[in-house]
Amino acid sequence: MENFMEISDARTIPVSEYLESVTDPLRRAAIASVFEQARSALELMRVRFSVDVPVPEIFVLTTDEIKAQANPLGLIVVSQGMIKHCFDTAIPSSKVKAGNEDYLDGLPDLFPQIGLTWVLAHEYAHLFRAHHQVQIELGSHDHVLRAFEHDADLCAAAAVYRAVQQWLPGVQDIDIRCYVIYALFWIITTFPNTNDGAGVHPSFSERFFQILLKLTTMQAMPGDVLDLDVNLPATANRGDALRNVAIACETAYLAKAPGTKNDFFMQWHEYFKSYGHIAIINEWIMVSPFVEKHSHTTADMQRHASVVPMTMSDIARLEKAERKRHRRAQARSRTQ
Ligand SMILES: [Zn+2]
Repeated sequence: MENFMEISDARTIPVSEYLESVTDPLRRAAIASVFEQARSALELMRVRFSVDVPVPEIFVLTTDEIKAQANPLGLIVVSQGMIKHCFDTAIPSSKVKAGNEDYLDGLPDLFPQIGLTWVLAHEYAHLFRAHHQVQIELGSHDHVLRAFEHDADLCAAAAVYRAVQQWLPGVQDIDIRCYVIYALFWIITTFPNTNDGAGVHPSFSERFFQILLKLTTMQAMPGDVLDLDVNLPATANRGDALRNVAIACETAYLAKAPGTKNDFFMQWHEYFKSYGHIAIINEWIMVSPFVEKHSHTTADMQRHASVVPMTMSDIARLEKAERKRHRRAQARSRTQ
């Protein structure tokens, strides 16, 4: 949900027209294939969530800024900067091993494919989860908008996991989950402003923690035991494997950018210390019944409802805190 209403020369064009502008034929074919696969992943998402919002037409915005947007009228716009970002993010595959890389022979574009699919699935989720209608009913409060981003992130992570299951039949389940976490780490951590946590956009640590938890607890196959509270050893082992990938990625990232302020480990620590992981879940508990009502889809609340009880007074407290934050921000901007 980025705001595109800025004055610029950028044009919104169909993907086919964008492809014509890509001069290198190999690159053009690679991008075309990634879009095709991403589109099939979105179709799969539509079926799995049994939604009647068709997968919208996808357009490209001709700017190098890294952006994507879902228009409530039913189209998804992704910038050429975002496409380049997904393709050109330097992923140090020789340094960090995620699963069995033998499977990646002949699949050089798996990581851009995961990245772009996640971005488009995130935008599609904003549409079919009816976030726009919920926003009209609940208002544009920060906690409401944050809950939408949380929802879209997790729907997209689930969609990517299901898509990679289809793209790599016969590959071990844990390897598939590791590929997804690995690709998303590099794509998301290198988004501009991903680490400032400002406004409604969650910080990288928050997004990544929640995605990691989602990929830990998702059933490999429908009908498998759903272990949302990570009680079973198999689920815990999976969580360990995914966390190890995250730690290896972060170690490589810090080595690449020494002295970076965006220390994921420290941020993660701060995130837990300040109960950030509980705050977003509480916000989602508040907003999710409205998402269910407007979208006619099911919001996964079981774990959170049992782990984090939420009362009306908690909600009032959260809203009071938000109003206070808002007043402080206004006072600050007046004195500047
Ligand atoms: Zn979003």
